[in-house]
Amino acid sequence: MNDFIASIGLEVHVQLKTRTKLFCAFPAHEEGDPNVAVCPVCLGLPGAMPVMNGEAIRQTVKTGLMIGSRIALRSTFDRKNYFYPDMPKNFQISQQAAPLCLGGAVEIDVGGQPKTIRVNHIHQEEDAAKITHLENSSEIDFNRASTPLMELVTEPDMASPDEAMAFLIALKEMLIYAGISDCNLELGQVRCDVNSSVRPAGTDLLGVKCEIKNMNTFKGIHRALTYELARQVEVLRSGGMLVQETRRWDDEAGVTLPMRSKEYAHDYRYFPEPDLPPVVLDAATVEAWRAELPELPAVKRARFIRDYGLPEYDVGVLTADQALAEFFEAAAQQSKNCKAVSNWVMGELLRALGEQGLGIADAKITPRALAALIALVDAKTINMPAAKEVFQVLFEKGGDPAAVVKEKGLAQVSDAGAIDGFAERAIAANEKVAAEFRGGKETALMFLVGQVMKLSRGKANPQLAAEALRRKLRG
Ligand SMILES: [Zn+2]
Repeated sequence: MNDFIASIGLEVHVQLKTRTKLFCAFPAHEEGDPNVAVCPVCLGLPGAMPVMNGEAIRQTVKTGLMIGSRIALRSTFDRKNYFYPDMPKNFQISQQAAPLCLGGAVEIDVGGQPKTIRVNHIHQEEDAAKITHLENSSEIDFNRASTPLMELVTEPDMASPDEAMAFLIALKEMLIYAGISDCNLELGQVRCDVNSSVRPAGTDLLGVKCEIKNMNTFKGIHRALTYELARQVEVLRSGGMLVQETRRWDDEAGVTLPMRSKEYAHDYRYFPEPDLPPVVLDAATVEAWRAELPELPAVKRARFIRDYGLPEYDVGVLTADQALAEFFEAAAQQSKNCKAVSNWVMGELLRALGEQGLGIADAKITPRALAALIALVDAKTINMPAAKEVFQVLFEKGGDPAAVVKEKGLAQVSDAGAIDGFAERAIAANEKVAAEFRGGKETALMFLVGQVMKLSRGKANPQLAAEALRRKLRG
């Protein structure tokens, strides 16, 4: 690959998180029985008139604002004509001449190398119905017909499959953060057409473009691009010519294959949609939508490093999920030990959530309770094993850590007299080990501390136990 440069551009279709479809009041994202969330509009019956879903416009504009697009205050809709059973009107309502969002960029980072990926535009369109091809027949479900989509088209700025992956991950993170889309790839909520070309290093003119249609996993995109770029280089190296074509990815075989020309050779004959007026926005509305945007992940990461003094690794884990980041921050603001809060959230909290398949909203422990629990550990009121036991109670039932400590009798024993007593009993019961320590075997002390912990049923302050043992063994 070294003597060739790759250029990758993506067309990303994202299902917007709206209650209803793009042009009717029927529910979007209906799961369950096929062909129930349908009406004359999304079935394309003659005479049915579309009515624009304002929420979809708002979501697309907010996406544009997040990536720094110029928002078109007047945008129009066009008919993209094609004849296929997944589109009952025989045209898709889309935007071609005047899309909602123009320009913009997404920042990515691959192996510590920051890079800006420019976005050409974002337009609004409707999704098609879902077709499943069986052996001798095809099934079609119109529940998905007219679900709101936005299509984000990048410039060919990505130079490797890793960069394409980083772009998609950054975009997905932003969209989930801002509540624009759930970006559930398994449900087909993000689908990509992937354009790629290669050219000899040292030349400027882009090579012949090849498009891979309808990719719906990030891993598949990475594999398909890796294969496709190598294929293009191989053709050029062996003196062949590339043709501009549409290919499909065969995931099982791990190859891209040309699509039959009639599968993609559309003449869409775009023309203005006569049944929808232009979408006209005023600057104040756009600004109000801008004000609704959350702090973006990259900004949040930088702030967490600055304000809480956390290492980059912690910040990456904590901000991967917005609710988790909020939980951390609420706890950290009530704690004197931010690193401990981070450790508990990344460790015990994520473990407990993962074990039970829960989201942070389901956890009974509050940020305040976690901060209080950490304070009890730092004040040496309880030791770590006890703290984990208290955490489990708080996670399952909620409540106040001090009350749980009291109820379960978990407070650490720091009373010198009591610890001396445990130390004497531990030595008396393990004369041989005690002799080894006296003979210079330092590690023997750890065993005796363990015995003190056992005798105190885990409640002795281990540091004080070690000190008491040393005193008695030397004395
Ligand atoms: Zn409908």
